[in-house]
Amino acid sequence: MRLRLPEERPKEPPTGYKIAHPVLSQDGTRAGFTGVSLGAALPYAVLDEAHCVYGRRHEAPHRRCDCGFHCVHERAAAEAFLCIAEHRRAALLEVTVLGAYIRFERGFRYARQRVRTATVRPCGCGARASLLVDAGWGRPGWQVLESACGGCAGRRTALRLAEFARIAGEGLTVLGARPGSGVPPRGLGVPELLAEAALLQARLDVFQGELARLAKGERN
Ligand SMILES: [Zn+2]
Ligand SMILES: [Zn+2]
Repeated sequence: MRLRLPEERPKEPPTGYKIAHPVLSQDGTRAGFTGVSLGAALPYAVLDEAHCVYGRRHEAPHRRCDCGFHCVHERAAAEAFLCIAEHRRAALLEVTVLGAYIRFERGFRYARQRVRTATVRPCGCGARASLLVDAGWGRPGWQVLESACGGCAGRRTALRLAEFARIAGEGLTVLGARPGSGVPPRGLGVPELLAEAALLQARLDVFQGELARLAKGERN
């Protein structure tokens, strides 16, 4: 009887996608990210190793634990998480999965990670972001940053996107998402929400039509 899954030996390390908040160390000399769910209390650098979030003395990812870095295979699946209200200000990360990994249907759980690109959301006003500013919350020793345009940054601590990338190091690229791409900006008015709802309804109609067609094909 075979108890282990076949081992994979990819030629190139796999690519994955996830969302996280950019963070800056208290003294401003280090930059990285902090996750949005499990492991959110442990900020990580651009190139970093996973540790068991429960402090157990095993290597992450362990088969009988849920520790390790997590990512999904599809960019769209990671973008879907950005729709959740409390994740609206998070950045989309494209990562290289390094070291041991466990593959799931939707993604990986793994030992080491390199963040290659971070795409930050447009400013809360809808304009393309050029800065990362103090988001007003953080972790011990780390302040969380959120994207902003020059007009909305005010007097908060602010870093240009390229400056954040330089401090984070390891060849990280930080991009500002094009306004209107993906998730709607915070603070949409009723007309925008109605337009959004109409668009969703139209998509749903197409989807239901497809489904009915498939179901009919199956019966024949
Ligand atoms: Zn563990
Ligand atoms: Zn703005």
